[in-house]
Amino acid sequence: MQHFNNIFIDGMLSDITVCDGIITDIAPSKAETGTVPRSDLAFAIPGLVNMHTHSAMTLLRSAGSGLPLFRWLNEAIFPQEAKLTPEKVFEGSVDACNEMLSTGTTAFNDMYFHIESTFQAAHKSGMSANIALSVTDADFENGTLKKFINDFEHYTTVASRCNATTSVAPHAIYTVSGKHLQYLADFAKEHDTLFHMHLSETQKEREDCIKQHGVPPVVYLDQLGIFDKVGSRFIGAHSLWLDKTEIQILGSHHATVVHCPNSNLKLGSGYRFLYTELRDAGVNVTLGTDGCASSDNLDMIEAMKLMSLLQKGYRNDPSVLPAEEVLAIATTNGRKALRLDDNTIKTGNKADFSIISLNNPIFKNIDIINSTNAQRHSDFLNHLIYATHGNAISQTITPHIAI
Ligand SMILES: [Zn+2]
Repeated sequence: MQHFNNIFIDGMLSDITVCDGIITDIAPSKAETGTVPRSDLAFAIPGLVNMHTHSAMTLLRSAGSGLPLFRWLNEAIFPQEAKLTPEKVFEGSVDACNEMLSTGTTAFNDMYFHIESTFQAAHKSGMSANIALSVTDADFENGTLKKFINDFEHYTTVASRCNATTSVAPHAIYTVSGKHLQYLADFAKEHDTLFHMHLSETQKEREDCIKQHGVPPVVYLDQLGIFDKVGSRFIGAHSLWLDKTEIQILGSHHATVVHCPNSNLKLGSGYRFLYTELRDAGVNVTLGTDGCASSDNLDMIEAMKLMSLLQKGYRNDPSVLPAEEVLAIATTNGRKALRLDDNTIKTGNKADFSIISLNNPIFKNIDIINSTNAQRHSDFLNHLIYATHGNAISQTITPHIAI
């Protein structure tokens, strides 16, 4: 049994008891707010969900800086990845899980290869995950995909022992043919798994698709029948270059998209993510960092800040995407996409949260004595998201006991 005392939850000073990974009790703190030294007080937020990662890319951190996406992939990434062994992928994934946990992330949505190594790394860390095999047309020839599909039951069993799910992840429309995309969508439908792919990341991807198929990427996927097959299991990473029709298609299928602001800015892919339009159309908007080769870190606090600032700047409106809303995108919406239980900090829920100590000069201006719970909570979230980085997180608790 673990006790976490003098923690503000939604602005209310509380004591939390955790037993076997479950929050068994949350009671008002025995101490009066004004009597506890500030250095002994903390806030808590639910665990964050990083919805687009290639964990082992910590091994390629900051590779190819300054190159645009297609040159970056072909010159800096693919040749390095060809040399990665299962041992190296394990090592890189362990580093990624440690970095994510230490910055408040408790669940992630991964696509890579040597995925059994990533299962083991997730297990070691106690995180939840969907860990998908990244697939290109070449994998239909070299036996990688065949092995995964033949042994799918084995992969599912190992993943579930590691608190993970597994699936196929077509890399993108420019690396996987229409015929193969349909095959993979059929597989996802048959096995009720997620369907995670890169989508409309660059203007070039969109223009090439129009040249080749006569329509933009989402319409192309729709014409292939992908959304009819996978529906709300569809997860489109980036989804930066979309028109009204494409947003409508994604919304009508309740698809998920993942904004990756760090990566999009670093690779010069664009910054006008259509958040409000996607949200209003019924799309489940989530947030991710992307791999460390393009986002350089896995810090979701930084990603929340960037997402919020980009919306305010691009729309000339400081009221767009406030702290509470961007936190919901990075928690609730991500968990919904991964089909994970709600991790609101309340009795009966799994213990899946982070603690942030007030013993940090950045939080000095928060009035903890004379403010209402709602005001205190809002002040705290604004400080956390706009003024700190992931290193403000003091401790992260997950429900899984690592072995
Ligand atoms: Zn990616």
